[in-house]
Amino acid sequence: MGKPRKLSLYFHIPFCLSKCYYCDFNSYAGLSWLIPQYVEALKEEMQLYAKGIWQFEIATIYFGGGTPSLLPMNAVSCILKTCRELFNMPPALEVTLEANPGTIDQSFLTQLKQIGVNRLSLGVQSFSDSELKLLGRVHSAVEAKEAYLTARETGFENINIDLLYALPRQTINDWQNNLAEVIKLNPEHLSLYPLTLEPGTPLANAVASGSLPKPNADLAADMYLLAKHELAKEGYNHYEISNWALPRKECQHNLTYWKNEPYLGFGAGAHSYLGGYRWANVLSPIEYIKHSSNTKTKASQQPYFNSPLVDNIEHIDRDLEIAESVILGLRLEEGVNLANFTRRFGVELYSIYHQQQINELVELGLIVKNEHGIRLTTKGKLLGNEVFSRFLPKNRG
Ligand code: SF4
Repeated sequence: MGKPRKLSLYFHIPFCLSKCYYCDFNSYAGLSWLIPQYVEALKEEMQLYAKGIWQFEIATIYFGGGTPSLLPMNAVSCILKTCRELFNMPPALEVTLEANPGTIDQSFLTQLKQIGVNRLSLGVQSFSDSELKLLGRVHSAVEAKEAYLTARETGFENINIDLLYALPRQTINDWQNNLAEVIKLNPEHLSLYPLTLEPGTPLANAVASGSLPKPNADLAADMYLLAKHELAKEGYNHYEISNWALPRKECQHNLTYWKNEPYLGFGAGAHSYLGGYRWANVLSPIEYIKHSSNTKTKASQQPYFNSPLVDNIEHIDRDLEIAESVILGLRLEEGVNLANFTRRFGVELYSIYHQQQINELVELGLIVKNEHGIRLTTKGKLLGNEVFSRFLPKNRG
């Protein structure tokens, strides 16, 4: 008998204390009174998939949001217990919970560790109070550091810190200070993203009206290169375009996405990818809870996405799966490995994408090619979308 296929699980917790000024995630302030019903709805949804995914071994679990650290401990514990009861869960696996520094204390973290959460992802975003204020975060820089140190004292040995850069008015020195602060803390993992001005958010409106300056793209590129340089000196592997990790501390859950492997997302707006389909649940937590009571009648039916909770389904045909695997694979430092590609798709990469098409990208200095495969150069990482669009099925040479 071969090894069971792996499957990662994502739980979306859409509740927040208040809405940050840049945020267009599926998250809501003032709805945390829904939490008990929402957790019941998650359990219903898990029940729905239980039979259909028993052949898979669960690879990772991730609580994202929103602010999962707003969940009471019995809710996190109940979700994990239901996972163990319903799914094929190995005794040891990466279980991550995203936490907002303004929402956690020692007692919460101690219990979290006891129930099996072994990786913490802290949404710090900045170590400057004025930048945090600009972003509308609920915590201060001191609170962020305290949250990190408390997590360490509690015994968390795998911590990610999220930071944002290219903020309005942020200088390269400000960013250097942020990097210096995070390097002092020495987390195992770092996710660094340039601020995206999402239409309709208060921050985007402030930039559009001229009350805040537009972040400069060249400065953003310099900040990225500075982070790459500083973190390399500290022993971090730049293993994905926006992610750095100490050796063997890469985020296994996110690697599922970048390797285009299957995952199931539970909760409002959560996405899943399994069996040649990708689907998304209804966005509204209220609608999600309402529809969850109808899942019982559907539990024995297939395919997986035949659920009243699902709002949107997309068939991923082989051409699209190939393109997505290449594009996602290029996000990783290791790039796209030729042997792995052939093993997965039964054809060679260069029979799908002509050498000439690849060579053009090499000549532009965007990718490098060797006997093992192709990967992005630093320039290619800065101009990722330019490269990725060339691998879409409609743009094949
Ligand atoms: S904590 Fe995260 S999800 Fe919640 S509003 Fe802020 S950025 Fe959005």
